[in-house]
Amino acid sequence: MDDLKFGARNKRGDWAPEEPLESAPIWLFPPQPKKILAWIPAFFFPYNILFMISAIVYWQMFVPDVLVLQSFGWVWVLKMFGINVILAFIWYQGWELPLYVKRRQGNRFKYNHKFPADHPSDVFWFKSQNFDNMLRSMFIGVPVWTALQVFMLWSFANGYIPYLKFAENPLWLALIVLVVPIIHDFHFYCIHRLIHVPVLYKYIHSVHHNSNNPGPWSSLSMHPIEHFLYFSTVFWHFVIPSNPVIALYQLHFAGFGAVPGHIGFDKVETFDDSGFDTHAYMHYLHHKYFEVNYGGDGLVPFDRMFGTYHDGSKEADEQMKFRFREKKKNRNSNQKKSREH
Ligand SMILES: [Zn+2]
Ligand SMILES: [Zn+2]
Repeated sequence: MDDLKFGARNKRGDWAPEEPLESAPIWLFPPQPKKILAWIPAFFFPYNILFMISAIVYWQMFVPDVLVLQSFGWVWVLKMFGINVILAFIWYQGWELPLYVKRRQGNRFKYNHKFPADHPSDVFWFKSQNFDNMLRSMFIGVPVWTALQVFMLWSFANGYIPYLKFAENPLWLALIVLVVPIIHDFHFYCIHRLIHVPVLYKYIHSVHHNSNNPGPWSSLSMHPIEHFLYFSTVFWHFVIPSNPVIALYQLHFAGFGAVPGHIGFDKVETFDDSGFDTHAYMHYLHHKYFEVNYGGDGLVPFDRMFGTYHDGSKEADEQMKFRFREKKKNRNSNQKKSREH
């Protein structure tokens, strides 16, 4: 595909989409039903539907009987861990292999023209972003994910939290299924903003930001405390009456859904000279500029409300630079004041 029909490449070779990002129209006022209707397919396909299906299949195939879940046992806990490792590996490597190992589409639609494997860096374990990101994801990320999943299943099985059945509460549970992505974005925005507080950033979140040119394996490359905060999105199903399959969907949304934001390509080309959108640009801009787009994919409009939204346009770029200049000015004048006292 000709990526220059959809965007432009700068002198360095970095590609950017022509059209600015559009956030979800559900919060527009006055409501715009036409826009919402047109947006609905993009809300479901492909990711949300995929993770709903993965949660249902996972529940049917791998989660043991409720009686087994009532007490912790090494066999089923290790089984959950093993399955999560295998599924995460398949999903993450499934993106990495064609795009970054085989480089099937070169750097067409690639935001940053460089490939991390070509640029060893001291900030990463073994100087390799890929290796570092993969080890952190598999050996810290997936265990934390599994621990919270096991705790969630055990809590539901013992009736420690409300366990609603689909047959008795179809409408309520359907509503919860629909708001899973909104819960995710709300939760992610809150914890993400928190770990950008300078001291937390320095010790915790900087690990994730080491990958300023992210690839699929960067998705769960985090400090263990960030892993815990990130996957604690499942605790919303401890306070909202819910069902373990939906809580599983919430975890799949976090664990597998982290990849789309870190693909590094705007479109993935398919065999028939077409491609599908990855929705990676919003979070890519966060990795590039740090202080914009704290929300995952703009489903919850906090970035717009608090003035940190960057839609990729020149105007948004100017606004961001203005904010940075103002911040610097304030910092300098505060330092001056403290010296005078
Ligand atoms: Zn990220
Ligand atoms: Zn961040």
